[in-house]
Amino acid sequence: MVLQVGTAFEVKTPFSRILRLSATTANLKSWLNAGLAFVYPEACQLCGTNRAKLEDGLVCSRCWQQVRFIRPPFCERCGLPFEGEITTTFECANCREMELHFSSARSAVVAGGVVLEAIHRYKYQQAMWFEAFLADLFLREALPGLSGQKWDCIVPVPLHPVKEREREFNQAARLAAHLSRAANLPLNAAWLRRLIPTSTQTRLSRQQRAANMRGAFALADGVKLRGERVIVVDDVFTTGATTSACAKVLLRAGAGEVCVWTVSRGL
Ligand SMILES: [Zn+2]
Ligand SMILES: [Zn+2]
Repeated sequence: MVLQVGTAFEVKTPFSRILRLSATTANLKSWLNAGLAFVYPEACQLCGTNRAKLEDGLVCSRCWQQVRFIRPPFCERCGLPFEGEITTTFECANCREMELHFSSARSAVVAGGVVLEAIHRYKYQQAMWFEAFLADLFLREALPGLSGQKWDCIVPVPLHPVKEREREFNQAARLAAHLSRAANLPLNAAWLRRLIPTSTQTRLSRQQRAANMRGAFALADGVKLRGERVIVVDDVFTTGATTSACAKVLLRAGAGEVCVWTVSRGL
């Protein structure tokens, strides 16, 4: 399948999204919260002062302007932005130290400030309205970034079933679904399984993270790959240990190539 970016850009109203969410009791709380926005004047959920629209993820234009997009020059492999002028192909220390299995990784924005807050509240407090904001940032960069490239499908980084039951949704899968619709590429959210419920990795070194990810993922039963070119999607990219572990499983199972796209990137 040839990726045709820009076609089939499905515009869904946030309300239809909320209605879809409301199908599960899991998201009842967020539905009620979002419902309040129809009753009360909609205030930005980040600064709490300026007005914001639900279709913008309840993020005002002022907060939006604080987003830092990741632009070249950056590391060819992992997309780490590099300050200053560079004319040759550049690979960062992270990539030299780690064995990364994906061919390239790119992220839309820096995981800091308003973006980090939106991601944390989306993931851990079920502030589902931020999904429109995060998906917007993601598609703005990923669609032109993938333009002209040939990919077959999208695979989100899976959550461990225990964690997914707790959180009630997989943020990577939901954000990947936006890319799938916009880029007109199939979403294969059940190809990978997470075998180990890895705890937070924030205090771990690069090597520890990589070790932590060993054996964390497996191919789901019955999945057969025949050279597919796969885009792995996650919400945040830190060292690449998680997405690389996913890429490794997919490549061993027969994927032709694996690239990574994440909404944000920790610097
Ligand atoms: Zn604001
Ligand atoms: Zn790099």
